[in-house]
Amino acid sequence: AGSALGVDIGGTNIKWVHRARAAVVEQGTLPTPAGGPVQIVAAIAELAVARTVEAIGAALPGHLSPDMRSTTTIPNIDGDWQDFPLADLLERATAKPVLLMNDARAFASAELTLGSARTHTDVVFMTMGTGIGGAIALGGTVLRGPGDRVGEIGHMAAAPGGDLCGCGARGCLETVAGGRALAARWSQALASRGTGTGTGTQDRSATPEDLVRAARSGDTTALEILGTAATAVGTVLGSVLAQLGLSTVVVGGGVAPAFEVMRPAVEPALGDRRRLIGPVTILAAALGPYAGAMGAALNATAQPLAVPSAR
Ligand code: BGC
Ligand code: ZN
Repeated sequence: AGSALGVDIGGTNIKWVHRARAAVVEQGTLPTPAGGPVQIVAAIAELAVARTVEAIGAALPGHLSPDMRSTTTIPNIDGDWQDFPLADLLERATAKPVLLMNDARAFASAELTLGSARTHTDVVFMTMGTGIGGAIALGGTVLRGPGDRVGEIGHMAAAPGGDLCGCGARGCLETVAGGRALAARWSQALASRGTGTGTGTQDRSATPEDLVRAARSGDTTALEILGTAATAVGTVLGSVLAQLGLSTVVVGGGVAPAFEVMRPAVEPALGDRRRLIGPVTILAAALGPYAGAMGAALNATAQPLAVPSAR
């Protein structure tokens, strides 16, 4: 019921959908404004005031305060996000109620309601993008917890003492298998070979897509990088599935094609935990790149609506 603007704020793009009742009536993508959260508020307010919406849902690639009104750590977007009062500022700029949520939990609620998990109730979700996101659904509900923080698979330890993560810790799964890490490893490999990205564009840094392409054409270094990532993903997923007693995983996000290359090595890395978890079903997400924005729009009006007074 109701109409909502759902936005999915990423390090590169902001994806948005305008949902009216059950249907998406319009959607789009704009580059994430440089500068930081203040500039992002302005961009979202511009989208919201140009449309008739009752509420705004905003999905963020990081952590929220326990009351879900402010941001705390946003590992992969520049700017000062610590204690940034995003919900208050957006409400002031738009006079609409604003619900903040985590991007992976938004993705999960869309895939659970409308996408590849719609016939399932108990699922682990993983999003592969610049960072790695995660979510857990039990009994048909995406778990949230204070600050919508349940399911942070990307920050589970995968390489103790390893590379520094955007969250401040070392060796998190996303420092081994996140899009940014994969691209950095591939850039490094190419630099040590003295070749470019292999795409004829010598002056840009490598992307995860470059790495996947090289792996598909049989490059051993590319296969090794993805193999290491696959082992880390499989090890962490195996632990999560065993701990929760679940056996269904949905994988999505912009770097999910890398997962398809990693898949043959992920399965063995689930290892002898298989005895605990049984056969594992790994499904590809079904809703495409706007899943997070859809989840944000769905959740925005699932909340009781109260138009904020000017503060
Ligand atoms: C953040 C998660 C987020 C994920 C995907 C991670 O770095 O900690 O909260 O869901 O990136 O954007
Ligand atoms: Zn981390």
